[in-house]
Amino acid sequence: MTRTVYVNGDYLPETEAKVSIFDRGFLMADAVYEVTSVIGGKIIDFAGHSVRLQRSMSELEMVSPVTMDELLAIHRELITKNDLDEGGIYLQITRGAPGDRDFAWPDPEEVPCGIVLFTFNKPLVDSKVMDEGIKVISIADERWGRRDIKTTQLLYPSFAKMQAKKKGCADAWLVEDGLVTEGTANNAYIVKDGTIITRQLGNDILHGITRAAILRFAVEAQMKVEERPFTIEEAQQADEAFVTSATGFAQPVIEIDGATIGTGVPGDISKRLREIYTEEMIKTAI
Ligand code: PLP
Repeated sequence: MTRTVYVNGDYLPETEAKVSIFDRGFLMADAVYEVTSVIGGKIIDFAGHSVRLQRSMSELEMVSPVTMDELLAIHRELITKNDLDEGGIYLQITRGAPGDRDFAWPDPEEVPCGIVLFTFNKPLVDSKVMDEGIKVISIADERWGRRDIKTTQLLYPSFAKMQAKKKGCADAWLVEDGLVTEGTANNAYIVKDGTIITRQLGNDILHGITRAAILRFAVEAQMKVEERPFTIEEAQQADEAFVTSATGFAQPVIEIDGATIGTGVPGDISKRLREIYTEEMIKTAI
């Protein structure tokens, strides 16, 4: 089926959608993005994603081409037009197309930001990964320093993912100064003696929308949470490990650099958190 996508104000068949070769998203990765899940045709945590999007834009002095109400309406229209039941919506806002290439940012009054959105189908709730868990490798974190801004500079995470695949693993955990920052496209956690441990927020990791919800639900369920960094060695000695992201929810990790985590199967806390997250997010989807 040809998808209907949204490009700078128009709904178009994907085969007819075009952006300029001068678009700074294309030339310089001068763009921010969000990925939001959809279950049963409803959007999960739109509020969280729209707040982070506005923050990413404001950190980069971008002026949004749409209001957040308009953005929600576009998400809904795309769900309807594409008959989307389960999957997600990718949204990208770029600094627009000044008609040439220049390192300096164009005046936002003269060059409006560009915006594209498209939907994708993906089973989210029933996931084979959840039953089996994933294996990860560790790799040096060589991304830029403002990882709290969700930009489309994804070459290094993509490179890291390929290194993982070459070793028969699903993903990589990034390590800086001996400490795990996060996964290539997810936040990383370990569980030891019932305590959930994940790196504290800062410029060095993305402030995951799923992370915020998972930690909230963990505290509500009387689980102990510690926000601090950990090493790969500590992770390898943990009882459980898992990652979170908007389209992965909570996914167990069963092996890190060849070392089995816990008993080598998804742990109870990871499974419970995934259950709670799925249940609560479906309840509040809009
Ligand atoms: N960390 C990174 C580097 C990511 O790219 C992502 C998602 O793309 C996440 C964490 C998880 O964020 P969220 O839960 O908002 O999807």
